[in-house]
Amino acid sequence: MVASLANDFGQLRGDVRNYLDCERRLLIGGEWVPASSGATFPVIDPSSGKEIARVAEAGAADVDAAVAAARKAFEDPAWRGMAPEARERLLWRLADLVEQNADELGQIETVDNGMLGFVARNLNVMGAAGAIRSIGGWSSKIFGKTADIVAPFPGAECFGYTVKEPVGVVGAIIPWNVPLMLASWKLAPALAAGCTVVLKPAEQTPLSALRLGELAVEAGFPPGVINIVTGYGETAGAALVEHPAVDKISFTGSTVTGKLINRAATETVKRVTLELGGKSPTIVFDDADIETAIGGAADSIFFNAGQVCVAGSRLYVQRRRFDEVVSGVADHANRLRLGAGLDPESQLGPLVSHDQQQRVSGYIRVGTEEGAEVIAGGKPVDADGYYVPPTVLVNTKPTSTVVQEEIFGPVLVAMPFDDIDEVVAQANSTIYGLAATVWSNNLSTVHRIVRRLRCGKVSVNTGGFPHATLPEGGFKQSGFGRDLGYESVLGYLENKSVLIRLQ
Ligand code: ADP
Ligand code: MG
Repeated sequence: MVASLANDFGQLRGDVRNYLDCERRLLIGGEWVPASSGATFPVIDPSSGKEIARVAEAGAADVDAAVAAARKAFEDPAWRGMAPEARERLLWRLADLVEQNADELGQIETVDNGMLGFVARNLNVMGAAGAIRSIGGWSSKIFGKTADIVAPFPGAECFGYTVKEPVGVVGAIIPWNVPLMLASWKLAPALAAGCTVVLKPAEQTPLSALRLGELAVEAGFPPGVINIVTGYGETAGAALVEHPAVDKISFTGSTVTGKLINRAATETVKRVTLELGGKSPTIVFDDADIETAIGGAADSIFFNAGQVCVAGSRLYVQRRRFDEVVSGVADHANRLRLGAGLDPESQLGPLVSHDQQQRVSGYIRVGTEEGAEVIAGGKPVDADGYYVPPTVLVNTKPTSTVVQEEIFGPVLVAMPFDDIDEVVAQANSTIYGLAATVWSNNLSTVHRIVRRLRCGKVSVNTGGFPHATLPEGGFKQSGFGRDLGYESVLGYLENKSVLIRLQ
């Protein structure tokens, strides 16, 4: 079976075709407006390199207007005074609307990002709906604490309590890899906490966030509570980070950009959440269920063409089973059918952009120059789209560039290990600490290694899929703060302590 390498737009739903045909605008204060400069930028289909839509390009003036709208909405009793249960219901209504429009949103994402149709619909869109619904439920479950206090002077009986208050206006800046899901991971906890938001999607993938904005308007969020500005990172993104009326920046993206944002946010002492890069290890012990581990290791790096921050990009296999596991993963890679997301026969889509394709191919080249051997993939794909074949490298050194740096593509490095001490040292040896996956049937081995891995999430005998109740985030240079779970809501709340003397 062969899959087509370029999306066939004849397969698009009518509503998606109409959506692409109409120039998309910015959502500011409940209105859809063009950029004040009139500028627009193109949206590219990664499977063909062709322009498929145009979107307003926000500059600093538009960001300023969006922040002003968010500020106004934050002070407005329509939002500030809304019962937590009503906020919760609004989020649930939005989750329902996302679910009801899953086919449309999925196709929009497929032609914008390049991802496979079933990933776009079932992980990205349904994952967004699930996160909005689950986290929306925290709206009505935000509590402070109480304390009985004896004052440090005679005769004063006091009472103290804490309240949680929304941090204010949130600037949410997200990447292009799983656009709608990551938009939901920022929006849902910020709104559950009672904040207002200016969301800036990545310039490579602006379309699904704008459709989400339409659904938010339909759900009945008051104007200005959710604002969406599409534009470039260096202009619109930077303006949001520097804006004095923004109280918090929540960012998911590369470590390089995260450091830049963190530095810029210091100037106005903004609260910051950073979910950054990873170089997550998959660790296979020789007692594991080897067939399942092979499939799991392959999925972990090739899913969404490796464009996943928790992708299992380093494979460590206990020496006795190394050849068996690595050749199994290489076979898996060689069998994957490359193709465009709209074709149901496709098993691995293109990367998001020409830049990413060049970056990832560059890493494969550097890997071989540093002595690695390519046992699957590695060669360029003859197509207009931004394809990189699933690639497996062996014979790398622990210090090799391809072992240390995040590649963010379908490129796996595989290395043998002898014992738990050695693999823990190797697993923890990068600047990152986002996630890890362990394959073993030995309970003690599992518990021992879980404790010693320096990262925000460990998956055991399963791939590391996200769940709305389990926080995601990093140790070390993978960032700080958490998405998902109650922990994510805490990131959008200030603590206020109140001390009262009883007279
Ligand atoms: P990439 O490596 O693909 O450029 P980034 O981490 O730079 O990924 O981008 C993630 C998000 O950060 C995008 O929405 C992008 O527009 C935004 N961004 C990039 N640079 C900046 C910046 N200097 N300030 C604010 N946002 C930025
Ligand atoms: Mg795009």
